[in-house]
Amino acid sequence: MKPFAYTRATTNQIAIETVARDQATRFIAGGTNLVDLMKEDVEHPNHLVDINRLQLTRIEERDGGLRLGALARNSDTANHRLVREGYPLVSQAILSGASAQLRNAATNGGNLMQRTRCYYFYDPVLPCNKRQPGSGCGALEGFNRMHAILGASPQCIATHPSDMCVALTALEAVVQVEGPQGSRTIPFADFHRLPGDTPQIDTNLKHGELITAIDLPAGAKVFAPNSYYLKIRDRASYAFALVSVAAALQIQNGTIRQARVALGGVAHKPWRAREAEAVLTGAAVNQQTFRRAAEAALEKAQGYKHNSFKIELGRRAIVRALITAAGEGRTA
Ligand code: SF4
Repeated sequence: MKPFAYTRATTNQIAIETVARDQATRFIAGGTNLVDLMKEDVEHPNHLVDINRLQLTRIEERDGGLRLGALARNSDTANHRLVREGYPLVSQAILSGASAQLRNAATNGGNLMQRTRCYYFYDPVLPCNKRQPGSGCGALEGFNRMHAILGASPQCIATHPSDMCVALTALEAVVQVEGPQGSRTIPFADFHRLPGDTPQIDTNLKHGELITAIDLPAGAKVFAPNSYYLKIRDRASYAFALVSVAAALQIQNGTIRQARVALGGVAHKPWRAREAEAVLTGAAVNQQTFRRAAEAALEKAQGYKHNSFKIELGRRAIVRALITAAGEGRTA
């Protein structure tokens, strides 16, 4: 690992100014991904600014919704009464990720900033456009079982690894940031990027901008009684999603008034399945509706040599998640 400077920031302003001064300076909080990347020689910052002492750990009601502090730990967020009651989808998604030890260390802001777990990205001797732009994509013709089936580009077919972010996408969360030019909000759908020709850029955060909070909107509470996060993976715990589904329905008299569907493990960013939502909205609650929605969600999916199985797996996962969210499959 390359030597680096380490300092602790005591205010947001000091942290932001210190990082903004140098492109090779990074914030560090839980460090559950960044430290791994440094050990693997994928990331080599000159300077780490520890932000754990900043006052960004609160989880509190705001404008009828809920504000999740960027430095609240994933465990504390998942187990918080207001999250469990108003936004159980977020709680379920967080608890399906990583391990208890990692969730105790990882922060909400860090969860958004974690990088792909593409095997080629983590091995500095292999080609990877995300790690070294212009070097090629090892996964494209290599072993790509975990890789994207939606929104990929010839430059990169990696997937985003987060579970929490899939639920936040479905619930239309908003990211609060502070930076050298002041504060701004980023709708969750605009936070992460598709790879296009610049797969090395994961998010629309500018250098020096600090995530301070994630807001869950008041309107998303209508989904609390009928939401479900389903994660399909190779082992029962401590594994990334092959496919995951955040399903949320507002049901009245057997009809779906509003629907939200987002997918994980299928794209470079958490994938909002708007085509599925259009099928579901106004339709009757039954398995035929759910299958039509699943077909619509995966209509544009494209598989590669080892991951085409994800397309049908994704359809089936959507149907199962919707059945469970609708309350028809909780004992199945
Ligand atoms: Fe790198 Fe993306 Fe290709 Fe993986 S899929 S090797 S991260 S460019």
